[in-house]
Amino acid sequence: MTDFTMEKGADGVAVITWDVPGKSMNVMTLEAWDVLEGLVDEALADEAVKGIVITSGKDSFAGGMDLNVIAKMKEMAGDDPARGLFDGIMNAHRILRKIERAGMDPKTLKGGKPIATALPGTALGIGLEIPLATHRIFAADNPKAKIGLPEIMVGIFPGAGGTTRLVRKMGAMAASPFLLEGKLSDPKKAKAAGLIDEVVADPLAAAKEWVLSAKDADIVKPWDAKGYKMPGGAPYHPAGFMTFVGASAMVNGKTKGVYPAAKALLSAVYEGALVPFDTALKIEARWFTHVLMHPSSGAMIRSLFINKEALEKGAVRPADVSDQRVRKLGVLGAGMMGAGIALVSAQAGIEVVLLDRELAAAEKGKAYSADYAAKGVSRKKITQDKADEMLARITATASYDDLKGCDLIVEAVFEDPKVKAEVTKAVDAVTDADCIFATNTSTLPISDLAKASKNPEQFIGIHFFSPVEKMLLVEIIKGKATGDRAVAKALDFVRQIRKTPIVVNDARFFYANRCIIPYINEGIRMVAEGVAPALIENAAKMVGMPLGPLQLVDETSIDLGAKIARATRAAMGDAYPDGAVDEVIFWMEGEGRLGRKARAGFYDYDEKGKRAGLSAAVSAKYPQAAEQPDVTEVQHRLLFVQSLEAVRALEDGVLMDIREGDVGAILGWGFAPWSGGPLSWLDMIGAPYAAERCDELAATFGPRFACPALLRDLAESGEGFYERFGGAKAAA
Ligand code: NAD
Repeated sequence: MTDFTMEKGADGVAVITWDVPGKSMNVMTLEAWDVLEGLVDEALADEAVKGIVITSGKDSFAGGMDLNVIAKMKEMAGDDPARGLFDGIMNAHRILRKIERAGMDPKTLKGGKPIATALPGTALGIGLEIPLATHRIFAADNPKAKIGLPEIMVGIFPGAGGTTRLVRKMGAMAASPFLLEGKLSDPKKAKAAGLIDEVVADPLAAAKEWVLSAKDADIVKPWDAKGYKMPGGAPYHPAGFMTFVGASAMVNGKTKGVYPAAKALLSAVYEGALVPFDTALKIEARWFTHVLMHPSSGAMIRSLFINKEALEKGAVRPADVSDQRVRKLGVLGAGMMGAGIALVSAQAGIEVVLLDRELAAAEKGKAYSADYAAKGVSRKKITQDKADEMLARITATASYDDLKGCDLIVEAVFEDPKVKAEVTKAVDAVTDADCIFATNTSTLPISDLAKASKNPEQFIGIHFFSPVEKMLLVEIIKGKATGDRAVAKALDFVRQIRKTPIVVNDARFFYANRCIIPYINEGIRMVAEGVAPALIENAAKMVGMPLGPLQLVDETSIDLGAKIARATRAAMGDAYPDGAVDEVIFWMEGEGRLGRKARAGFYDYDEKGKRAGLSAAVSAKYPQAAEQPDVTEVQHRLLFVQSLEAVRALEDGVLMDIREGDVGAILGWGFAPWSGGPLSWLDMIGAPYAAERCDELAATFGPRFACPALLRDLAESGEGFYERFGGAKAAA
């Protein structure tokens, strides 16, 4: 069986069906291109064939290019990878161009065979680029189908003609949300936007009918016809000029120049718009090669697609534990976190008992889901019936008896070991012996909390991030006694609620907070040193961090920072390293500058809570030094301080798999996604250089930058993290 097969009908229509054996969704491979071309050649050469329809044997059309293949293309391209990649891309262009010209005479534009696509459902990436090369696209009226070009989300751009064709079809301005933001649409919206041509009940029948009636003129693409003008204007047309200047500014503003794909895409569009279509494809191929050659694209594909998916599918799940999907969940504490956990669980179809000390508090937690659902209904994201069903799954209560029959409990009560121990015991008294108990603590050691449990092997950490419904990462923490079934239960639960899990061992601040706190602290330390706050914040954003460290601490609040600092100091005693940071945050706390919630922090805020610039009061207390550091030095301090902590977490065995270290960093706290994560970043700059920078930073700024032994060892052996740990093996 091959990925594409063809059937020639008595009506003169050759139907090419894409149906990759053994996969639920079609993805394109390098070999499949040849098969497709062979079938197109055969149909074009066969006089009995009047037209061609390309469709799918599945309920969707295609999910895109096999990104595993893209990740390997560079290696496969041999000694001259750029040449190999470029040739491979140009080959795809040639095949799609053959489909587009369909055998017509290039001068008279006559005599070609109509080729249409019939999309039964979702068509993404190359799954839309192939249709865009055909003459008409018919899609089934399936509101669940997604149509679009999401490549930019994993650090590449549509490089099989999708960029050039879409811009020539709809204009640069109209195409920009689809290309630059990877916007996906259902079929009706895709038709309204001009991505596809028709939405019908039976796309295959409609496509067949169309190819049999299409005339020569119907199959000539506007850009192949005489007198073609780009919609919205090419770059030197007054309207086009505005678009391109604006787009450039917007892309640079949003990406700060660190995402090579966005910039390359824009260059391909701009340069392509100035030349004939076939030259534009060649330009697109050059820029696409450039992006594939850039280490960022490989790192992003690896972390944000391949490894993220592997973790979601249970790459680190204990293999010999049976299905642990949750049927009935108990959530203790209906505050900010508990309310969010109840919501995402009910959305996933799980029955939820939401318990607080008073019924009113539990009801208030449930009201959070009701408000969320009401918003969804008013925005037409869900129907009233579905919203009602979801809400009916949540039972608000103050009685432990209602927890009977729960197979998983997630505790999100106050961050106080005594309160946590009380509720653990109260739960043990009513639940079945096999119920798993999870705590959502952010700071308390799991192994200590487990002491209150009757079954410490059934006790685990499931650490959500706030806001629960938005944040994609869940950190699962194994205590010393935690058993495999508890890990499997936590992983199966996270899969049910469609989030990405990482599993780590128990240590102070687990993994995400362990790395993010030093980032915040480094920013605050620099303020104390007299580094301009604007330099700190901008340096962070220019290197791809979503928020500068000072904005981040304003968001999470200064008093939380002060509370954590006091607790850490108490736990660490003389070894506590952050006195310089505390001096600043305790002063801020004393001044009532508690962050956004107090409308005063490192930033000032207006009465609506909107940021109104960096605070003059902070600058008055910590005057800026006459000499300011180089922006790269600030960026290195901010990136190294996080990345070295990730390395130490790996050395300590807190992280057991480097994939989790990178995926967790991007999804958990937004570590510069272009880099693929902290360990990918260190691989990208190379261990020898990283070790050398550590030595320099440690000499100037202190031992927190000391090169970890593991990094030193990699520097000496000339390996990278991914070479040594293979993407799957444990660190120890
Ligand atoms: P919160 O104060 O908003 O909610 C706590 C809720 O627990 C309150 O509704 C309270 O009435 C209830 N509660 C207290 N004692 C109880 C008891 N004995 N029985 C039943 N209910 C009780 O707090 P939160 O921000 O939702 O945090 C809850 C937990 O989640 C904490 O352990 C915290 O460290 C952790 N956490 C918080 C965040 C965050 O960003 N806020 C992130 C991750 C984890």
